[in-house]
Amino acid sequence: MNFSDLQEELARKGYKMTKRRQAILEYLLEESGWVTVGMLHEKLLQDYPGMDFSTVYRNLDTLAAMGILCRVDQNDNGVFAYCLRETNQHHHHLVCRSCGKISPLHFCPLEQLSKSQTDGYSDLQCRFEVYGYCNDCQLSKANNK
Ligand SMILES: [Zn+2]
Ligand SMILES: [Zn+2]
Ligand SMILES: [Zn+2]
Repeated sequence: MNFSDLQEELARKGYKMTKRRQAILEYLLEESGWVTVGMLHEKLLQDYPGMDFSTVYRNLDTLAAMGILCRVDQNDNGVFAYCLRETNQHHHHLVCRSCGKISPLHFCPLEQLSKSQTDGYSDLQCRFEVYGYCNDCQLSKANNK
């Protein structure tokens, strides 16, 4: 994914590429990993001294709602991390409790639901994350014993 792909995708979805969105997306492309609002805000302040925290937060959430970013509750504490969507397929995430590593998980609990369980609801959306300890963290824990 590069910047013009992202620009095209925004246009296709009927959104404008604002200066702030551009700054956020450029940073995420450069970083190519997961960032928190705090990290991003600090970085953006260097180039946009007036930008406030809630603006960054709002823009990230909008980009996540558009499906351009993934959003994950990395530490299971309500503080979200964001990154450019890793795959075009609908997916969820597997999160390491120890190092915070996040991997795409190609499974969706919504597909397992029967119509009767969500009786009368439309536009169903799911938020689903799986937490555990990754291989690396289990290894280093075993080695430290
Ligand atoms: Zn993802
Ligand atoms: Zn880990
Ligand atoms: Zn899902």
